[in-house]
Amino acid sequence: MIKVAVDYDDTFTLNPALMSRLIRLLKSAGCEVKIVTWRHSIAEGNNILEMAAKHLEIGIIYCGGQPKQAICKYLGWEPDVWVDDKPETIPDRATLGIFYTHAMMREAHLEHSAEINNHDESHANQVGTKDSRPRS
Ligand SMILES: [Mg+2]
Repeated sequence: MIKVAVDYDDTFTLNPALMSRLIRLLKSAGCEVKIVTWRHSIAEGNNILEMAAKHLEIGIIYCGGQPKQAICKYLGWEPDVWVDDKPETIPDRATLGIFYTHAMMREAHLEHSAEINNHDESHANQVGTKDSRPRS
């Protein structure tokens, strides 16, 4: 079963109707979905979040300002997929350290980065590099 963690603030709240449709679709496909939020469980305004989760019949994990991945692992529910507007709130320090090191190592090769646009007719199937300076 694929576990999907959906952030609340500025992810679910960005478009609750759309995110509710997404969550229902994921659930109907057999995924287990939970709201995983950086919020503290005693924060004001959680009643709205809790009503939404109850309505969607999904659980909530309050991370209390701690890295989400570490809290989920501690609680025994490790997401396969994260839907989050701030991915930097997900990894624990050890994991972040590894990716940060890899990113620094790759920085010298940024000219190889590319973006493929399939969503815009005017740019359909164009592949562009960020840095088009001539190679030495
Ligand atoms: Mg957020």
